[in-house]
Amino acid sequence: MRIGIIYLGLLFGLHIDGSAQPTASLFQNGNVFDGSDLHSNWSVLVQGNEIVYAGLAEDLPETEVDHLIELEGLTLLPGLIEGHSHLFLHPYDETGWNDQVLKESFTERTVRAVNHAKATLNAGITTVRDLGTEGAAFLDVELKQSIEKGLMPGPRMITAGRAIVATGSYGPKGFASHVKVPLGAQEADDRELVRVVREQIGHGVDVIKVYADYRWGPFGQAAPTFSVEELRSIVETAASSGRMVVAHAATEEGMRRATLAGVSTIEHGDGGTPEIFELMVEHKVALCPTLAAGDAIMQYRGWKKGVDPEPDRIVQKKKSFGAALKAGVTICAGGDVGVFTHGDNVRELEMMVEYGMSDKDVLRSATSVNAQVFDLSNLGKIEHGKMADLILVEGDPTENISVLRLAKFVMKDGKIIKDELGS
Ligand SMILES: [Zn+2]
Repeated sequence: MRIGIIYLGLLFGLHIDGSAQPTASLFQNGNVFDGSDLHSNWSVLVQGNEIVYAGLAEDLPETEVDHLIELEGLTLLPGLIEGHSHLFLHPYDETGWNDQVLKESFTERTVRAVNHAKATLNAGITTVRDLGTEGAAFLDVELKQSIEKGLMPGPRMITAGRAIVATGSYGPKGFASHVKVPLGAQEADDRELVRVVREQIGHGVDVIKVYADYRWGPFGQAAPTFSVEELRSIVETAASSGRMVVAHAATEEGMRRATLAGVSTIEHGDGGTPEIFELMVEHKVALCPTLAAGDAIMQYRGWKKGVDPEPDRIVQKKKSFGAALKAGVTICAGGDVGVFTHGDNVRELEMMVEYGMSDKDVLRSATSVNAQVFDLSNLGKIEHGKMADLILVEGDPTENISVLRLAKFVMKDGKIIKDELGS
């Protein structure tokens, strides 16, 4: 132990859930990825739920700690931020989306969501932007409240509630016209949109999610839904309350309209062209590419990845993602988790590397970039004054993103959630 640190041993105070929690934790002398770059020989001191020192180990002022972790062989980094999850969905190869929306009770969906939240946090994802319950009303807002009350472990949540779709565009579909089925999102058009945005805000959502296009073309292909004016009224109404709008958009025209309307992020973006990505840069709209979702869906449909040739959808996705990178669009990290397994969030980060980003840039996306785009000013970085959401992995994730798959230690809001260090 260094001179200057007074180590008080494992005298943790008792936390409300019965687990012992330290009052001051020192992560001592090793590799720290601070959200931007990797630093060696750094120490990080946490008091309560706040990072009070992050810098060269030798410059750490004298301090009292009751929890000491040697960083040798490990990398400390900010808790990961998942940009696009659906805690109320589970993989479609287990149960198709229609059946989840129509046949699973709210109780079943909540029980699953509780498990998903635990798995997510355990994997080192301390925050999720959860983009729609898909037919489960505002249960996401209620799940978030249950996590905040300490009733269950789970990530910090940004919620979108029901999400908004244009009348006639969304599913489940395929029923006789006299049969009324509940939809996966809330329908509204024209002036109604203002009321529906306000209603969702009243139910406690943190962001408004809108589907700027959907698969409702004459041949079931994706086609734009709302006009620019409609999207603008959504953005203006949300902005008036201090909330951002997130747009699902996979077509060039849907992306164009959403960008011009002033949304903060575009989800998926498969049909993006160099011109559209330039427009997004100009309007400061970020892209959340959800690479892993399309990849998973193609595999559910029988594509044997690595054996069969790449389907057109994958070829196109690689091309459009490459164009987004080339244009310099801000890239969020978000996989559309729920389409694939919760807790397997790193799959998206691996695919971002596979599709052309450096490991370090992907790591920035999953920490500081997501924090900035989602307006989480006290998260995503390891520096003085930030909230103590921290994880530890073995090895160097700036060289190999896959080491994030094994988070050995997870701290959220200064509380130790998981510790497999054996210290
Ligand atoms: Zn989604």
